[in-house]
Amino acid sequence: MMNATALVLGSNRNKKLQLVKYLAATQLFDRVKPLPSTTSLFQHLKTKSADIICWLIDTGESETDWINKLRDDDKWHDIPLVAFVDDQQSLINGFNLGASDSLKQSTDPHELNARLHEHLKRWQRLLDLRQSKEQLQKMALTDALTGIGNRATFDMSIKQATARTQRSGAPVSLLMIDLDHFKWFNDNHGHQAGDSILKHVAQAIRESARDADICCRYGGEEFAVILPDTTADHARILAERIHQQVALASRQLRQTRMPITVSIGISCSDLDDVPHPARLIKEADNALYQAKENGRNRTETWQPASFQHGRTDYSYSSTHHLAFGT
Ligand code: GH3
Ligand code: MG
Ligand code: MG
Repeated sequence: MMNATALVLGSNRNKKLQLVKYLAATQLFDRVKPLPSTTSLFQHLKTKSADIICWLIDTGESETDWINKLRDDDKWHDIPLVAFVDDQQSLINGFNLGASDSLKQSTDPHELNARLHEHLKRWQRLLDLRQSKEQLQKMALTDALTGIGNRATFDMSIKQATARTQRSGAPVSLLMIDLDHFKWFNDNHGHQAGDSILKHVAQAIRESARDADICCRYGGEEFAVILPDTTADHARILAERIHQQVALASRQLRQTRMPITVSIGISCSDLDDVPHPARLIKEADNALYQAKENGRNRTETWQPASFQHGRTDYSYSSTHHLAFGT
């Protein structure tokens, strides 16, 4: 194991220093650190890593609160804890108290070495597994082409955001963004150029959004941005920024004969009596449809019919993006 750290605990100072010396001599560790107390163990673990904890148990020792604390935390739960004891009774006691292994201090050095080596190997395997699990979790939530959140992230985040709004009353807005005439780009420039456009648009959306906003690829050439704590007015400002960033990306790409533009539909929980994911999505979708109907390269905001006198269907407030070709 590379850069392995061993921590040494025990109330008998001399025995502890002896064990430190011994562990250093095994050359299994890059760092062997004696700790003055179990409190300092947790201080260490909060900021630094440990690959093995060697614990000198005194006869009759039964203080185990710190072991429970160690085992209660997912990060520390599996760190090998090796008890070093004087006699047969303490050897059993070591296991009873929750050690991964219990060894007599008089154990043959080769055996000690082999055991410690095995503990480190298992720990390293576990760290590798944890790392690949994290990578898989990340992959499961990321869109492979654009690197932003995927549909699963969107579904999860919109639920969380609306639940939060129901609790706190703070508004949440949703942007649905669809590339204009994207089929034309694919047909005329090829699928790979189409993919490259999708990447650039995703980047433009990400650059326009704030840290708290959740940018996702909803599917195909459609994107969604969830805007926590954001009113419809502020969502429109963000939408305008997206139009501008997409226009910039389009000019930089230069490979297309027609400018790349997007249409955006906005919905906001402020305009609903009870915010609900399916409802917000449907409303943003309707507004997006309206943006397409009204000529594309523009943003429409869904508004409830009650906002408009004498109308029973959906209504929209519109902003036409003029940055292009002007
Ligand atoms: P509109 O302005 O009405 O949205 O027209 P459009 O051409 O964008 O809409 P349409 O739904 O007809 O076409 C969407 C196109 O998006 C068709 C499909 O091939 C393309 N598309 C979807 N996903 C991908 C992808 O991952 N890569 C590429 N290159 N194209 C994709
Ligand atoms: Mg489209
Ligand atoms: Mg579409």
